[in-house]
Amino acid sequence: MATNEFDQSVDLLIVGTGAGAMSAAIRAKDLDADVLLIEKTELYGGSSAMSGGSLWIPCNHLMERDGIVQDTPEEALEYLVNITKGRVAEEKLRAYVDRSPVMLKYMHENARLDMFSMPSYADYYPEVSGGKPGGRACEPHRFDARRLGDEFDRMRPLALQELIVGRMSMTATEAHDVLTAAPGYIKLSLGIALRYYLDIGGRLKGKRDRSQSLGNALVGPLRLSLMDRKVPIWLESPLSELIVEEGKVVGAVVERQGKSLRIESRKGVLLAAGGFESNGEMRKQYLPNPTKAEWTAANPGNTGDVINMGMALGAATDFMDDAWWGPITVVPGEERARMLVVEKGLPRSMFVNSAGRRFLNESAPYDDICKGIYGNDKPDAGTVPCTMIFDATFRKSYPVGPCLPGMPLPKHLREIDYLKESDTLEGLAAQLGIDAAGLKDEVEKMNRYAASGKDPEFDRGESAYDRYYGDATVTPNPCLGPIEKPPFFGMTVYPGDLGTKGGLCTDEHARVVKESGETIPGLFAIGNCSAATMGSSYPGAGGTIGPAMTSGFIVAEDLFAKDSPGE
Ligand SMILES: Cc1cc2nc3c(=O)[nH]c(=O)nc-3n(C[C@H](O)[C@H](O)[C@H](O)COP(=O)(O)OP(=O)(O)OC[C@H]3O[C@@H](n4cnc5c(N)ncnc54)[C@H](O)[C@@H]3O)c2cc1C
Repeated sequence: MATNEFDQSVDLLIVGTGAGAMSAAIRAKDLDADVLLIEKTELYGGSSAMSGGSLWIPCNHLMERDGIVQDTPEEALEYLVNITKGRVAEEKLRAYVDRSPVMLKYMHENARLDMFSMPSYADYYPEVSGGKPGGRACEPHRFDARRLGDEFDRMRPLALQELIVGRMSMTATEAHDVLTAAPGYIKLSLGIALRYYLDIGGRLKGKRDRSQSLGNALVGPLRLSLMDRKVPIWLESPLSELIVEEGKVVGAVVERQGKSLRIESRKGVLLAAGGFESNGEMRKQYLPNPTKAEWTAANPGNTGDVINMGMALGAATDFMDDAWWGPITVVPGEERARMLVVEKGLPRSMFVNSAGRRFLNESAPYDDICKGIYGNDKPDAGTVPCTMIFDATFRKSYPVGPCLPGMPLPKHLREIDYLKESDTLEGLAAQLGIDAAGLKDEVEKMNRYAASGKDPEFDRGESAYDRYYGDATVTPNPCLGPIEKPPFFGMTVYPGDLGTKGGLCTDEHARVVKESGETIPGLFAIGNCSAATMGSSYPGAGGTIGPAMTSGFIVAEDLFAKDSPGE
């Protein structure tokens, strides 16, 4: 097909508008490339905008600047090699360690990104050699959404679970304090509410908070940087086909305003279109079963389209049976599942199977919880779903899913018995259909563990990560508390996710490769449509967007910087 048969021609067509796609676009534009981003849905930002907005960047300049913790590339690589267990090529891990701090610094100095390093947000496996007790996870400072003008309305909003009463945005640091009921959290919550209601202009406009945090404070500055550079984003414009000439991807067909447009992309096409978490059929085909699309907390537009297109061109795939897992609750009437990142590990609660028995360390990283949920599912001791049990003190102290501390549930949830409640453990077990003797026995054990501060079965509260989301006022172990005060509660928990991590195999330059190791010329993939750089593991908060942004940055530099390896 000759060039003149294209409707439009650019240097780089980027499919998707998450943080990875935007970082690639910013860097490419700064290297004088002509870039176009296309987005399938009516909103830009994808799961990146819905997310916590954290980036896991070893040796980042922010921790150095704030003198938080010493880090070295050698330690970071050692950690990644250890946790990925030989399933990711060392060149890819090395590229991440080398390039991610460069990407972050670049975005700080040349784009509008403004982040800080979280000193006590531990790596998810801080005790593994090379792991750190904090500093590698960075989060965005608050972002005044008014700077985006009308473009704010087109940004995908934060996930509901990240907002106080579905309205007010919190930073990750604030969320930690509010959700774990840390000392001073009431004052903090009142301050957040005051700030929210004092934004009279915002309140007259609607309920969305204009002092944005988390994923909106990550994507907002990136969007602003694209506006500065006049880089176009086409919304409601899905990629429908890759155009291949003599084995090389040279462009794509994009559906826009009722037309199929043929876009030439002179340096190749960058796929940044997320995973397949919202595609029920692909979930059933690839993920452990049972599984449902309603168990994801991520973007509804992520349906694996580009993974299938890449596979059709012969691309290899990896980690298709894996996800960025986390235990979730499905709340009727809400669009997405809520992940129980914090509440699952707080004291006076535990997860049990249908035999009423505990089966894992509830305070472990959320990714591991779901591996444990699937791994322990047995006919006489079912864990899919399992139940989170807690007592009246827990219910009064902490938010959990849609339940606010000490507040009655909304009427529609009470009417359907969303949260089971009973004055006795036997009564609760009967309502949940789980074994009462098993449950009583486990509660007695938990209460002994809470008194001693030791969980000899699952080591709950031993890791610095566990304790980060514990209640520091509970001693001797902030993750263990007695389940003793009636009424007792039970919430059904499913193995959900923040996105899938299986996708097209890529090399350290994010070039899509075939089973033979040969690249598909002109095709690049980053983020959740590519096989995860972190393999089956989750290094720390920000372990998914950090790699997406870094890979996007690498693609742009490789293609457009002088002396780069090119396509
Ligand atoms: C509640 C929540 C909290 C999270 N917190 C964090 C965190 O703090 N740190 C972290 O690292 N990760 C976090 N995650 C996970 C993280 O958000 C995702 O893994 C990451 O954003 C995926 O990035 P991506 O670029 O692959 O996809 P996305 O950001 O989802 O972007 C993909 C975009 O491509 C679009 N698209 C899909 N198909 C097409 C098509 N055919 N044509 C055009 N466009 C298409 C989608 O609509 C979407 O907008 C969180 C996720 C959730 C849901």
